[in-house]
Formats: sequence, C-alpha cells, structure tokens
Amino acid sequence: MSMIINTTGLVIYSRIQGEADRSIDILSPEYGAINISVHGGMKITGSNAAATQLFAYSKFCIKIQKGRYYLDSSKVIRIFYELRNDMKKYTLACYLADICRYTGTANQTAYDVSRLMLNSLHFLCKEDADCDLIKSIFELRFMADTGYIPNVIGCNECFKYDGDDMFLLLKTGQVFCSAHFDGEENDYNVRVSPVLLHTIRFIVLCDLKRVFNFRISENVQKQLSPIAERYFLEHIPDKNFPCLDFYHTL
Ligand SMILES: [Zn+2]
Repeated sequence: MSMIINTTGLVIYSRIQGEADRSIDILSPEYGAINISVHGGMKITGSNAAATQLFAYSKFCIKIQKGRYYLDSSKVIRIFYELRNDMKKYTLACYLADICRYTGTANQTAYDVSRLMLNSLHFLCKEDADCDLIKSIFELRFMADTGYIPNVIGCNECFKYDGDDMFLLLKTGQVFCSAHFDGEENDYNVRVSPVLLHTIRFIVLCDLKRVFNFRISENVQKQLSPIAERYFLEHIPDKNFPCLDFYHTL
C-alpha cells in the first residue's frame, strides 16, 4: 500500500546517502519537517536537481510507503541563491534550518513556522539585510509560535505596562516592574528599556506578516541579540547548534 501526497516545502537539509541516493529534509506547512529519500539523487538532472537542493522552495509529489517518504517528482518555485554569496547570511540560514529540523516533528502542521522561515530567508536575501535583527526576530517569534510565548504585556504583579525600565526573566518569560522585581540582575534577569520591551512585544505579538517590517538602532540591537538567543536556547531541548557557534565567529 502506498499513498501519494502533494505539498510545497523548503529544503532545510540535503545529504548524500549511499552510492547514488540523497536524503533531504523539507519544511512543509501541512506536514512539518519531514525526511524524504531521493532515489538516484546524485545523478538526477533538470527539475528535481534544482528542486531538492538546500534552500530550494519547491512543489513536491511524495510517495509514502510503510511510513517512509520517497520523492516522486518535484518542481522548483524559488531558490534562495543570494545566500550563497555571503558567508554570514548562509551560516545564519543554516542555523535557522537546523532549528526547524531539530524541533519540527513530522506530521505536525507548521503553517506559522514555515511562513516565518520563508520570510526570514526572503529578508535575508535583500542586499541591506540586517542579519542580527533577522536572527533575533526568528528566535523570539519561533518560540512564540511553538508555545513558549513570553508574557511581556506588563508587570507580572501590578500589570504596569510602560514608563521606566522593567526586568525580563528569561527562564520564566515574565516581566516585572522595578518595584516588584526582587531578584538579582544578571544574564537571565535582564533590565529592559521601554523601547527594548516594546520591540520584544512587537516581535512576539504582531501579525506574522508584519514581523520583519521595522528597524531598530544598533544600540537596541546589541541588547536584543543576547536576550533573544538566551531565551531561545533556554527553552529548546536540543541546545547544540554548530552553525550558531560559527555565526558568532563571523
Ligand atoms: Zn509591578
């Protein structure tokens, strides 16, 4: 018994398997992150060759047999070529792809995460792309969309919304005003200015369509980067991301 499914998806991993086959992972809105075997993957030419390369966004016709996925045919929609000319952009894209691979379970829908990933690559391909901002947006929004949305509306005690600096607790995702914060200020209990808190709120709460439509100063970005990364790593089970380590050396 076999079954055929059609889906669009982004290739987030591609490797050679055996002598002539290839194994790819795609991120599909309907099926999440799934692994597909491509027979003759090394020798394939034309449409399938382009459509199954890393960071190709393609239409896939997939045969499911005994719970495994096999490529039947594919057709490329877009290839994010621009990533290959820039080491920093490419490394960041690989890190984001690894996040989708390690955390996306097969056969779970991933509409928001797919859209977030595609939009991230789209903005990353722009000439004036701000890699650090795209990275922070992805890390925070990914967590928000997968059930770890920080409670940044207001102080956890008195609901104070703005005014002075507040404190964001990365381990719990809670915010406290200075009157109600009784912990120690450190890497995980961070002081956030009103503009920084507003930025974090926007990233986790706005319509996904608009999440990349803003700019922040270099100073705010310097504060946002470690917060987004620590919050992400704190709440993700697999914390080993070699591409992230490499990104920091660039
Ligand atoms: Zn308070």
